[in-house]
Formats: sequence, C-alpha cells, structure tokens
Amino acid sequence: MRAGAPFLFAAVALAAVRGAEAPTPSPTPVTDPDIRRIVSDISAERIQRSIFVLASFKTRHTLSDPLPSGDGIGGAASWVHAEFERASAESGGRLKVELDTFDQRPAPPRIPQQVQITNIVATLPGTQPDPAGRTLVVSGHYDSRATNPLDATSPAPGADDDASGTASVLELARVMSHFKYRATLVFLAVAGEEQGLNGSTHWAQDAKARNADIEAMLDNDIVGSSRSESGQVDRGTVRLFAQGIPPTATPDDALLSLIRAGGENDTPPRELARAIRDIAASYVPSMNVRVIYRADRYLRGGDHLPFLERGYPAVRFTEPAEDFRRQHQDVREEKGVPYGDVPDHVDFAYTADVARVNAAALAVLAMAPAPPSGVQIETARLENDTTLRWSPNAEPDLAGYRIVWRETTAPFWEHSTDVAKDVTRTTIRGVSKDNMVFGVEAFDAAGHASPAVFPSARRTL
Ligand SMILES: [Zn+2]
Repeated sequence: MRAGAPFLFAAVALAAVRGAEAPTPSPTPVTDPDIRRIVSDISAERIQRSIFVLASFKTRHTLSDPLPSGDGIGGAASWVHAEFERASAESGGRLKVELDTFDQRPAPPRIPQQVQITNIVATLPGTQPDPAGRTLVVSGHYDSRATNPLDATSPAPGADDDASGTASVLELARVMSHFKYRATLVFLAVAGEEQGLNGSTHWAQDAKARNADIEAMLDNDIVGSSRSESGQVDRGTVRLFAQGIPPTATPDDALLSLIRAGGENDTPPRELARAIRDIAASYVPSMNVRVIYRADRYLRGGDHLPFLERGYPAVRFTEPAEDFRRQHQDVREEKGVPYGDVPDHVDFAYTADVARVNAAALAVLAMAPAPPSGVQIETARLENDTTLRWSPNAEPDLAGYRIVWRETTAPFWEHSTDVAKDVTRTTIRGVSKDNMVFGVEAFDAAGHASPAVFPSARRTL
C-alpha cells in the first residue's frame, strides 16, 4: 500500500522510474500533529451521550411532533441545534449555526401531506480566499422510523440509524472547530432521510443552485455497531461506498471520455474514497476502510445520493455488517429475539473510531491544496513513456504535485513520484500509459495531499 503522506519530492521535472511493476520506495509517512490531536480529541463518551439523548425522544419520525419542547422530531431538532450552538460558543463563535427549514410538498407514499423539514447546518468558514469557496460536507440524519414508514407515533429510538451518524457529526463539529482549515467545513444534520432523502435533497439542490464548490461529501449513516446479525464482532472495519459511473450519465457527458480512456474506476467519488483510505491508514491505523465500488447497498439509499446526482463527489460510511433486526423495526421481542434500534446495541468506541476516520479525512482534505485542474495525459504519439500536464495551483504554500499510478486491474494506487511546485508537465520514463492508470495530486508544505485527478486525453503535444 502507498504511504499516506510522503513528504519528499524530486525537484526535477523528469522522473525516471525503472520497471513499471517495481514498487516506488515509500518515504516514512509523516503525520500532522494538529490532525493527530483532532483524532485523539474525539470522545467516545460524548458520542455515547449524544446517542442516548437522541434515542430518548420517543420518535424522530419526520411526521412526528414538530414542537421544540416535545418528544418528537421538533424536540430532537432543537437539541441538535443547541449542541451545535454550544460547540460554536466553545470555539469562540467560529461555527455559524443555521436552521435550513423548508416546506416539503406531499410526496406519496412516504410524505402524504405537506410537512416542514429542518436541517441543522454548522459551517466553519475556510481561511484561504484563493481559491475561495472550496467546501467539504459531513452529514448524518437525525430522523428515525419504526416498522411502518408512516408510523409517526410508535417508539423509534434510531440509535444506530442514525443517531450514530448525527452524534459523530456533532462530535466532529465540537473538536474540529478549534482548528483552522483552508477549505470550508459544513457539519450537516438532516431530516427526512427515511421518507425519501428529503432534507439532504433540499440542501444539495440549494448548494447546486448557488454553484457551491463541494469537493467532498461524507455521509455517515448506520455507523454504530461492530456486531453482525450472526454475532460476529469486527471493531476494525468501516465500509465506504463509492460510486463509479452514475446511472444518470448522458452520452454527451464528460464521463464518456473517462470511459473511453478506461477510467470508469476513477470517478471523483472513487478517487475520494482512495484518499480517505490512505489518510485513515496514516492517522487511524486500527481502522480498515473497506472501500466498496458501489453507490450503496442493494435496496438502500442515503444522503450522499442527492449530492452524487448533482455531480458532487460523495461517499457513504456504514458499519461492517448490519443487523437488520435493529433497523426500521418496532421495539419488541419475538420468540426471545429482541428487535428495534435501541442504544444498548451500539458500540460507542467503534462509532468514535469511525468519527476519527472522518476527522482525519476532513482535516487533511480541508488543509490540502485543491485537487489539480486541467490534468491531461499526452496521447499525441506512440511511445512507451507517460507524459502528464496540468494547470498550476494557486495556493501560496503549495509544495508540489504527486504523480500516482497503478495497474489497470489494481483497486488502489501502487506507485508515486513527486515533482516540485513549479512543474506542470512531467514524463514518467519506462512506464507506459497503455498499461497503467495515472492520477495527479497536489500537496502543501506540511504534506497534506488532495485526492488524485484522473487525466483526460490530450491529442497534441
Ligand atoms: Zn439511515
């Protein structure tokens, strides 16, 4: 596996590499002390408390009691809002906390009548004006459901689905707001997920309408349990679902050129997933990010989908093996088997580790330069070398670019070589573009690297 954040780079434009299969020597990964601090500050106890509080509302069904003082979704929304406000106060007002409330029109069968839906949004503005507006989003949904999707009154504690994700997002906001990032971070608690992804769709739609530059969206949904339905415990794995070619791609889409170049496995969500996996290996080595090349599980969806549909790179974290007796079930016992999504079945230390993976990924990517733009691979003549070019990044503390490559059949980057910041064209000698998949990343002086960008084909020299 490629090292997470190697620092050394060759200050030459032409990198000579012998033998395509020979692994590049991996420099010792160096980690950022601020990010190590962020990771260690994530508290399983605070996450546990948040999950218990959220599960203590009778139900958080989207059609339940909207009153802020009630024991339905209105009460839960008001508690989440207050927690974000508290986190903001503790970080000197650095988080901007807003309610994104809208009237959801009837959408049968799950929204039979008009209902008001509220997303709670905490924004930590980025520090770097150039390029402005780069945004990373992390979400969990605070609504819950019982067996019948329209049952707005039966107890629906939703501890794993998805108090675990909401509690993680709250904890990320608490811890991460004490540090500075180049890009803007948005901590998002959405509702209406169980009724048709209504809250996330509304927010993503607004983001698209204002042309928001969302570089990454991390959905945390069902991240609370390390125990499978058969009782097997795996505390060291989190699944990360990453879409390939979107089902909505049209023939005039830029994605067609991706497919023509054999890049169907190198969509932005997949490059994002590879980056997250590498970052986790450096900062949370106890956790294996099991990347799954699929948008989501069969028959299921999540809040990353409305972002994907609008062209944003979005991925979903979910526990290693779900126990479906714990999800979308009335709390009851049948033949001695307990059903229902109660907090007793949540592994709070495991949820905290998933939150740590999120924290490290968000911190590295928000501190890193923007992914390089205009990345191209020269295809003007027949040759056995590989020449890549890209547009210069604008960040003043840019340190260089990293060329990464792998076998076309390999899932993750296998080789890398670094070039200096003033280089925007380089040749990898002895490695044929015909045989490998290439990408280009940008990194800063502290070693924070962007996700890789797959090159388009350039037919002139
Ligand atoms: Zn869910």
